[in-house]
Amino acid sequence: MSAQIISGKEVAAEIRAALREEVTQLKEQGIHPGLAVILIGDDPASHSYVKGKEKACQEIGIYSEVIRREASITQEELLKMIEGYNKNPNIHGILVQLPLPKHISEKAVIDAISPEKDVDGFTPVNVGNMLIGDECYLPCTPHGIIELIKRSGREMEGKHAVVIGRSNIVGKPVAMLLLQENATVTIAHSRTQDLASITRQADILVVAVGRAELIRAEHVKPGAVVIDVGVNRNEVGKLVGDVHFESVKDVASFLTPVPGGVGPMTITMLMKNTVDAAKKLARTMQKQ
Ligand code: NAD
Repeated sequence: MSAQIISGKEVAAEIRAALREEVTQLKEQGIHPGLAVILIGDDPASHSYVKGKEKACQEIGIYSEVIRREASITQEELLKMIEGYNKNPNIHGILVQLPLPKHISEKAVIDAISPEKDVDGFTPVNVGNMLIGDECYLPCTPHGIIELIKRSGREMEGKHAVVIGRSNIVGKPVAMLLLQENATVTIAHSRTQDLASITRQADILVVAVGRAELIRAEHVKPGAVVIDVGVNRNEVGKLVGDVHFESVKDVASFLTPVPGGVGPMTITMLMKNTVDAAKKLARTMQKQ
């Protein structure tokens, strides 16, 4: 068997085209979605992610402000900046690129973002609403993963989904969203024993670990849908996922590539959340 490759790039392009049209219509009604992206320090990966977000905003017609500051910024200064954007009527979404320098508390920064502008879906209010299935901004990577599975035409209901990884930004929320799609969900992590015996039961396998090519053919049930979230450099510096693409493609029925799989979907879902935030604010203003 050779897996069908799910192109996140193509699916993302379709969604972005629809968003571009929506933004054009919103602008005619005087609604101009705006995103503030705050980048602290000089981590090369973070700079490249932020560039991708800036480019996506330009492509869709979203107004963007990218604020780059030295790693020496104090937590107080950063919190003040966020407070300013919370009040700024031209900005509907605020994103602080993680990771932050050690002297700044990630929790304090996330808590400072107004839940109405939390287009990353990281604040406790949005996480709580997601958990109970209420209206919220879904975290972008997990939302992108669910969208990719849906658009590949694969059923989630009643299937056994195994998620490897339990981080707050990927593993835990994607497990919760799979549960909302009526999958039976198992979460595996660094302390899981005999990982392969668990992953081999998965109809849907989501891998979010951060270890180059950890998951190989022997971990995968024939015909499974395999979503590779990992972004790593292998020993020769090539960008690879957490899944060994060459061996797994002969076992899985659907497989996402790295690059060009989950990554483009993450940025696209951020754009969608920003457009939704602008629409929500406009509705609130109309009611007042
Ligand atoms: P993290 O380091 O916060 O979490 C990794 C998880 O993997 C942990 O929960 C840990 O328990 C688990 N783990 C570690 N070693 C393991 C092992 N040997 N067996 C089983 N589980 C193990 O990472 P994260 O932020 O969740 O990101 C995971 C990966 O996804 C990284 O490569 C990251 O770069 C990538 N990522 C990609 C996107 C994207 O848009 N493509 C977005 C977010 C993260």
